[in-house]
Formats: sequence, structure tokens, C-alpha cells
Amino acid sequence: MITTVEAVAQLLAQAKRVAVLTGAGVSAESGIPTFRDAMTGMWSRFDPFELASPEGFARQPAMVWNWYAERRASVGKAKPNPGHFALAEIERRVRHFTLITQNVDGLHQQAGSRRVIELHGNIRRVKCSRDGGVKDGWTEDGEVPPRCSECGGYLRPDVVWFGELLPARALQEAGSASLDCDLFFSIGTSNLVEPAASLPWTAHRHGAKVVVVNPTDEGQRRGPGIEYLLGNSGEILSQVVNAAWHKTSKATHS
Ligand code: NAD
Repeated sequence: MITTVEAVAQLLAQAKRVAVLTGAGVSAESGIPTFRDAMTGMWSRFDPFELASPEGFARQPAMVWNWYAERRASVGKAKPNPGHFALAEIERRVRHFTLITQNVDGLHQQAGSRRVIELHGNIRRVKCSRDGGVKDGWTEDGEVPPRCSECGGYLRPDVVWFGELLPARALQEAGSASLDCDLFFSIGTSNLVEPAASLPWTAHRHGAKVVVVNPTDEGQRRGPGIEYLLGNSGEILSQVVNAAWHKTSKATHS
């Protein structure tokens, strides 16, 4: 069912436990291409498996490192948009709030979200491909890819690649929050990539209201009782926050 800002604001103002799942669409208004956009853009020039799998990295470590270095640089220049700020505002206002993201860009944290469950890692971090530890203090200046100062393995981005497991703790926390909320938002995601795609339906099965925020409901899974709030999250989430708490929210400022 298509819903309105006012109806969603009312749900939000009354909710006791809120969980939110975000996807690439939340960062679209920050200028970061969604996965779908990227398939016709930067990803289309390469085989995604060669860029985003341990096997591809083993075959061409320098090429993969350089591709991610380019993406890291462009994400580093991006700024959070009003949708990110609105979610940080909701976290401050709702006592039991969980933000789960499939994004790897770190923009939720930059907007002030304090607790972010990152299902797919973060492109701004690197880890050792051999010992698995997250590493600081590396530079882009020397060998490509840089080497781990502890074990000599190649460093790689700390993101989840094809064929890799999602971080177990993040997944467990995301599942628990979905089971234990009365309002669940699925924002800016095509809801196709499992296991994240199941979280809204888990919440729904356990009695939560589910609101999908997306410019389109095309291609979204449908179900009775799922509400669709149509619009760009950068615009519409600020409106929801304003309507929920009757004030001029910080969410409107970037
Ligand atoms: P997706 O590209 O499959 O879907 C993006 C969704 O966002 C679509 O449903 C689209 O209609 C919607 N959308 C577009 N503009 C929007 C806007 N302004 N406001 C709200 N919604 C908007 O992305 P996905 O579902 O997140 O899954 C793709 C995978 O790609 C994920 O695993 C994610 O980790 C990864 N990815 C991440 C980033 C990032 O970190 N910013 C960017 C691209 C891809």
C-alpha cells in the first residue's frame, strides 16, 4: 500500500523500538552511484567477480587495489545528505533504535549516527588478506597493494566480497533487531541481496509495521501490510522527522 509522510510520521512518533535497513539508494543523493547505476557505469567496464572476490584479488591484486583506491577517494569526497542526517536524528529521539546498513561508504557515521551495523564492511578500512586483522597506518605511496606490517600479506579493502560470509556478529545483531522491533524501515535498497533482503520480512512476520522508502515500488517484494513511502530518501526522511516531532529538524541541513 502506498502511504504518506504524515502516516509514517505518526507511526514513528509512537514507535517504541525502531529498526532501519539502508542500501545504496540512501547515498544516491550524496553522488555515490547505486549498485544498479554502477552496473551501467564503473562496474560495467569490468567483471564484478574479478573486482570483488578473493579469487579476483589473488589473480590481479594491484588492479583490484587500484579500483578500490579510486572508489575510496570518491567516497572520501562525498558528504552525507539530509537522509543520513534524518536517520541520525531518529537515533537521538527513539530509545531503542538500530541502524543496519548494506552500504560501505561510512556516511551514516559521518552524519552522526552513533551505532551502525555494517553488514558489508566499510571501504574506508583495510584489512590483511592473510591474517584478517583490520590495519591502520598504511600508505598509498609504496608497493601496490601495500603489505601488512605484521605478516607481510597484501592489504585489501574491509568489504564483503562475492563468496565471503557476512560478519557474524553484525548479522546476528541485525537479525535480533528485526525480530524485536515494532517499526521497520527498508530504505534505498532493492532488497535483492540476501541475507539483508529477508530482514524486513522477518520483522513483518514478528508483528512489526514495515515501511519501504524508495522512489519506486517497482521490483520490490510485495506483501500485505507493507507500506511504501515513495520518494528520494534525502527529501522524504527529513519531512518524516519534521512531521513526527513538530520542529525544524537538523535533518534539513547538510
Ligand atoms: P541497489 O543498487 O540494488 O538498489 C538501490 C535502490 O535504491 C533501488 O531500489 C533504487 O530504486 C533506490 N534508490 C535510488 N535512488 C534513491 C534515493 N534517492 N532514495 C531512496 N532510494 C533510492 O542497492 P542495494 O539494495 O543497497 O544492494 C546493492 C549492493 O551494493 C549492496 O550490497 C551494497 O553494499 C552495495 N553498494 C553500496 C554502495 C554504498 O556504500 N553507497 C553503493 C553501491 C553499491
